[in-house]
Amino acid sequence: MTRSKILCTKSHLMGHIIKSMSDQTSQAESQQIITEVLFNSIGDGAITTDEYGKLTRINPVAEKLLGYSSKEVVGIWFPKLFTAYDSNGAQMPITERPLTRALVTGQIISEHVIYKHKNGSLVRLSLTISPININKKLVGCIQILRDISSEYEIDKMKSDFISLASHQLRTPLSAVKTYTHMLIDGMMGPLSQSQLKSLKTILTAVNRMNETVSTLLNISRIESGTIVAERKPLQAQKIINSVIDDHRLTASDKDITFSVNCPSDGFRLVTDGMVLKEVLGNLVSNAIKYTPSKGKITISAKRDKTRMIISVSDTGVGIPIDSHLNVFSKFFRAENVIKNEASGIGLGLYLVKGLMNELGGEVWFESQEGKGTTFYLSFPTKASNTSTLKHISPRKVKNVTAKVRKTVA
Ligand code: ADP
Repeated sequence: MTRSKILCTKSHLMGHIIKSMSDQTSQAESQQIITEVLFNSIGDGAITTDEYGKLTRINPVAEKLLGYSSKEVVGIWFPKLFTAYDSNGAQMPITERPLTRALVTGQIISEHVIYKHKNGSLVRLSLTISPININKKLVGCIQILRDISSEYEIDKMKSDFISLASHQLRTPLSAVKTYTHMLIDGMMGPLSQSQLKSLKTILTAVNRMNETVSTLLNISRIESGTIVAERKPLQAQKIINSVIDDHRLTASDKDITFSVNCPSDGFRLVTDGMVLKEVLGNLVSNAIKYTPSKGKITISAKRDKTRMIISVSDTGVGIPIDSHLNVFSKFFRAENVIKNEASGIGLGLYLVKGLMNELGGEVWFESQEGKGTTFYLSFPTKASNTSTLKHISPRKVKNVTAKVRKTVA
């Protein structure tokens, strides 16, 4: 090959390389522009942070929601920039904040929080924080924020109305109940069999109305955050017995028997007795309602290493497998009970779940259609063990917090 030919081939090759490099550069640039445009076009607020929580990007909706421009906030540690409050208005410590939890656990976190706007006002937001992983390495998080202030206001008005209406219904209902009891007990003279039967029907209906009113009242208390659980040492067996006493009549109408398995110390527990009674009352009332006559209800209590567990087991109709995911949702009723059991509005288990949350415990169940259902309640053995970070080792939390502080310094 002649020298001129070699030079010609080399320059041709260089041309190719330069072209392909500039093609790649422009490809990378256009990719970046597309990413930028996509990010800025998201209809909800979007904020990205690096793996230490330093803000890397904020889209126009989030700028508007929080009052800061991108220039003001990029590069700043997110928790320093925005104070976060939980939905009851209590300031969240750094370890409890959704961003920290997403960074520590690598899991998607969805919840309602309140952030402080630049002008000092509070913005109520629904937040979803998803960790971003590249080659299985956590490189940051993306938060999607949605303003829920107006939904919250409407919901609050609805809760206030329900709370007021339930309060107003309580007093007349308890008068009806007291006088019906007096009539049944013969305190106002002897009654014929048919009069007695009618009064018992009235009493059952009043009891049901009372239960519904108290469920509505408790739900509005939970949703407005006004329920305060007072944990004290108590003997759970006493509460179990009193719940059974309250339901003995209804159960005996269906020939349903109770049995209780409790440790000999009466099952000492640190929790709120009134709330526990409400929770157990709901589970026992369901067990009676959804168990055919001559059935059996067993209430058991036991300890394991970290928890105290109470279970309510019945030999009833069971919950169809395709309904298992919805059982704790508001107004949910399974197909197999709607036809046969008219009484019920699908709020009892929603309330049980909310109350167990307040107690720092959990509720779950096992069920087989046609065979029966067991609901389990678990209570942490240490009253203080209610942190949302309870599944993460304190060391891990400490390491991440230290890293975060180092980044800020
Ligand atoms: P409801 O007022 O309908 O009883 P709940 O919230 O207490 O509302 O329960 C929701 C649904 O869960 C019930 O309608 C029923 O389908 C199912 N369920 C709850 N407890 C039981 C049980 N012990 N046995 C069978 N089904 C149950």
